[in-house]
Amino acid sequence: MLQMQWKALIAQFAELSRHQRQQGMKLLCGAPPGQASVALIERTAQARLCCSVCRSLHFHRHGHANDLQRYRCVSCGKTFNALTGTPLAHLRHKALWLDYADCLLNSDSVRKAAQQLGIHRNTSFRWRHRFLALAKTDRPRCLHGITEADEMYLLESEKGARHLRRPARRRGGHALQHGISSEQVCILVARDRTGQTLDFVTGKGQLSKQHLLHCLPPVIDRDILLVSDGHAAYAAFAREAGISHQAVNLRAGIRVRGAAHVQNVNAYHSRLRGWLSIFHGVATRYLPSYLGWRWILDARRILSAETLLKATLGEFPHLTVT
Ligand SMILES: [Zn+2]
Repeated sequence: MLQMQWKALIAQFAELSRHQRQQGMKLLCGAPPGQASVALIERTAQARLCCSVCRSLHFHRHGHANDLQRYRCVSCGKTFNALTGTPLAHLRHKALWLDYADCLLNSDSVRKAAQQLGIHRNTSFRWRHRFLALAKTDRPRCLHGITEADEMYLLESEKGARHLRRPARRRGGHALQHGISSEQVCILVARDRTGQTLDFVTGKGQLSKQHLLHCLPPVIDRDILLVSDGHAAYAAFAREAGISHQAVNLRAGIRVRGAAHVQNVNAYHSRLRGWLSIFHGVATRYLPSYLGWRWILDARRILSAETLLKATLGEFPHLTVT
């Protein structure tokens, strides 16, 4: 390349997006573009590869299609590949998936991820929910010891819906009624002192004893000490479920009483709220995906695009037993 052309080329470096920089660096290091994603998909699938219809382990290689090795089942003749039966089946542009996983780890909005990767924002939106479908299920199975529980409320949102059942609000907006009403959606968060956290979207309006009875018993040890604020639902729940309970009276200014406080769960709430503000309002029907996404970031079990792409295919990092 002529010196003049080189100077003109590097003068444009300042305009590169983060993704373009990463792509450029990979190319300069000699990596063929996009092959890393496909190789990872094939490798991750190897261990659990079987016919998607009859589950037979007797199959042959059967050519390539859509960048992936195709297999044909000997028993039933059905063809399948590494993505069959996963949330990522039938999606295009696989070469970009590791970069997209990076966008999720960076909490990029749909629009920003689309810009970074040069894909349509509808594709970016579809990928987000497909990527989180399985990844969000990587949650602790049980909470132990002292467990803090607290609820938070978000304004109900029909963002993206074609037909609103109420007048539109701009960018989140404000509730019309004071206090907690059916305009708000309740999110219950329970967190034990090892940091294991579970959340539940209990629906519109105030948290009730019934919500707690529905959500908590399947996921808590019988001998936990439940710590909450003074909300009557927690005390009623604990009585009925036979669980030890201690209430912290936040209104009276008592924030910490020995080990009994709800500061960890409140800190989780505030991290969640701050993070959700990036997205300028989240449609209520997608809240579970966002809560799962938040947990992926908060738990720090998934720190690399490779680990996240594996998790989208159902392979999670091994749990460390605490
Ligand atoms: Zn088969």
